[in-house]
Amino acid sequence: MNTEFEASHRFAEIALGALKQSGLACGPRNYELWYAHVEGGNSALSNAMQQAMDKSGKLSQDKADRLYKEFIQHAEVSNDVMDLVARFHAEVSDLYDIVEQTGENAQGHSQTLTDISDQLSDSQPDVPAVGMLLENIVTIAKSMRAENELLETRLAESASEVSALQRDVEAIQAEAMRDALTGVANRATFDRSLLDHIEEAIESDAPLTLLLGDIDRFKLFNDTWGHQTGDQVLRLVADVMNNNVKGQDLVARYGGEEFAVILPDTSLQNAKMLANRIREAVQSRRLKKRRTNEDLGVVTMSIGVAQFDGNDSVESLVERADKCLYAAKDAGRNCVIDEQEFAGRGGARAKGAA
Ligand code: GH3
Ligand code: MG
Ligand code: MG
Repeated sequence: MNTEFEASHRFAEIALGALKQSGLACGPRNYELWYAHVEGGNSALSNAMQQAMDKSGKLSQDKADRLYKEFIQHAEVSNDVMDLVARFHAEVSDLYDIVEQTGENAQGHSQTLTDISDQLSDSQPDVPAVGMLLENIVTIAKSMRAENELLETRLAESASEVSALQRDVEAIQAEAMRDALTGVANRATFDRSLLDHIEEAIESDAPLTLLLGDIDRFKLFNDTWGHQTGDQVLRLVADVMNNNVKGQDLVARYGGEEFAVILPDTSLQNAKMLANRIREAVQSRRLKKRRTNEDLGVVTMSIGVAQFDGNDSVESLVERADKCLYAAKDAGRNCVIDEQEFAGRGGARAKGAA
């Protein structure tokens, strides 16, 4: 294993330990903060952490949030976590190979030595010197066997520690990719995924479309029923969207009350049909206040649909979907506008697109 991996492994262990000690939840932001702290590359952060923690290493979530905002560039550290995970994957499989090989060798060795030992113990040497020598070999053989067994145990323990650590890191990684409120992909995951899909679409020449949806008059809904009830609606809309997509499609929370769906291998026409299905499903849900069962009416959604044109960047594709979305708002809301329709209405294409 390389030393970089060993160091990152050690930092990750220490960071998780210290995070537990702090009394805070093992969420991705907290983990990033502690990882950056124990890694020691940012002394200003480490000093601030030391000052903020009490003697036993405890820290309030408020202080942790402030430190995170002040010192951690979210995207950069997120990438660090991603790199860490990628290295774990490579190195863990190496380690398993080593354990397996060493295990077999050690077992083979052990077996040979055991055989010799057994044979020698059974034989009846008639020359005393040979007897002494044989006795030594028996002793060496026994001690080598004990050492091998110890080595095997240590390697097995280390392998199980690494796989536990790997599970922790994978859980942290999965959490870092999701939007905490709705559970769908977050903005960072959306950006990465759209870029990947654009690259795939260029290679495969398959159509790629993007839906951008925004809840109508959501400010009014929040003002009327309260932010928490608004949050409940965001979760419901995310569920509706998830229930209407399949396979490789990716639903993401793009911003506050905006959601995006990446649709690989999907024509503009099919994407528009799906957008209308989602729109109708959102509209058809009669909302109820959870505790009081009070009728909250319905919410509606406007959706813009754009198709990758072969030259788009992430930004230009999103910008075109956004223009269609705002045309849908202008058209009275609770409707879907795709870019063909948008052009038919005299809309200009987004800047930078071919
Ligand atoms: P439009 O139909 O033009 O989209 O009107 P709107 O009121 O939805 O648009 P506007 O951009 O004025 O307001 C968006 C509102 O979304 C503001 C804010 O109250 C709400 N919002 C954004 N993020 C969240 C969130 O995380 N939770 C809740 N409950 N509301 C949010
Ligand atoms: Mg909005
Ligand atoms: Mg809105």
